[in-house]
Amino acid sequence: MSDIITLVSRLSDDQEAAYLAALREALPSEVILPLCEASADLRALSSIAIVANPDPADIAALPNLAWVHSLWAGVEQLIAAWPIGGPPIVRLIDPEMSRTMAEAVLAWTYYLQRDMPAYRLQQTDREWYQHAYRKPSSLEVGIVGLGTLGACAAERLVDAGFRVSGWTRTQKSGVDRVRVYHGDSGLNDMLSSSDIVVCLMPLTAETRGLIDGARISRMKRGAALINFARGPIIVEAAMLDALDGGVLSHAVLDVFDIEPLPLRSRLWKHPRVTVLPHVSAPTDVQTAASVIAANVSEYRRTGILPASVDLARGY
Ligand code: NAP
Repeated sequence: MSDIITLVSRLSDDQEAAYLAALREALPSEVILPLCEASADLRALSSIAIVANPDPADIAALPNLAWVHSLWAGVEQLIAAWPIGGPPIVRLIDPEMSRTMAEAVLAWTYYLQRDMPAYRLQQTDREWYQHAYRKPSSLEVGIVGLGTLGACAAERLVDAGFRVSGWTRTQKSGVDRVRVYHGDSGLNDMLSSSDIVVCLMPLTAETRGLIDGARISRMKRGAALINFARGPIIVEAAMLDALDGGVLSHAVLDVFDIEPLPLRSRLWKHPRVTVLPHVSAPTDVQTAASVIAANVSEYRRTGILPASVDLARGY
């Protein structure tokens, strides 16, 4: 045997078995073994690892890795535990995940546009009251992070008639039908003109705590927030103050500082908060396996590594 692929995860047995089966089907000419089934000799032969929430010690047990493919799009936890000089990390970029995330962004934007949180509360109180209808074209949606997922969501929102803007780290042009901002003042400008702000950027040293009290105070009074990225990008205490004070009308949160969201959290029962259990864009086992198979096959054919994460930049 010359080379094997190792699957390193801390998923449940059932989940790991499902990924293993899909990967073996997508890569029939490769030997793919879960780490627990690979002897020390086989571990030394492994040049590629496919990982999901791996224990760093398990990665260290594979001494000859050329690269690692993550089963997730967000890799901040992997990067945080990565050894200096560790192998390159390739993250999952799957069009099916982009589609799913765009669908979630559109669904929860409609939820806010059609005042569903208010009607839900009114029903509880048997209250018959009609809010004025707001057309999509009357609302500006600002997407913080216009990358793979953000750009796809932006397109979907534009198709649905919303006015859309986005914020990126580097100056960007050519994003069709979307107003693009960048830099510090660009973020403030976008926040102050958005009715709904969607957070879709990676968690990095620069983005941790990015949406703090000062940023929130730039937002339109009564604006709403959707966080589908990572909890610590938004300063929770500042967001709660803004929700309590009516500066923000509502927050749809799929991600949190601690997950699962602790039972003691005020967010669970807050009338202006919708809590989702990290479900906006789960990895699809079959399409993820196809994407990884294409990357592995190309690497075997050319010896060229797929584009990898910039470890210093954090995404
Ligand atoms: P991506 O393609 O790397 O795009 C990231 C975007 O954020 C880019 O536009 C980038 O700007 C921008 N950005 C990064 N750092 C910035 C900074 N310091 N200042 C301004 N802009 C910055 O990432 P993606 O694939 O769209 O994924 C985004 C995140 O979504 C993931 O990291 C993950 O945390 C989260 N996610 C959540 C779920 C869920 O189910 N809740 C599922 C999948 C992913 P440039 O364009 O200039 O580089």
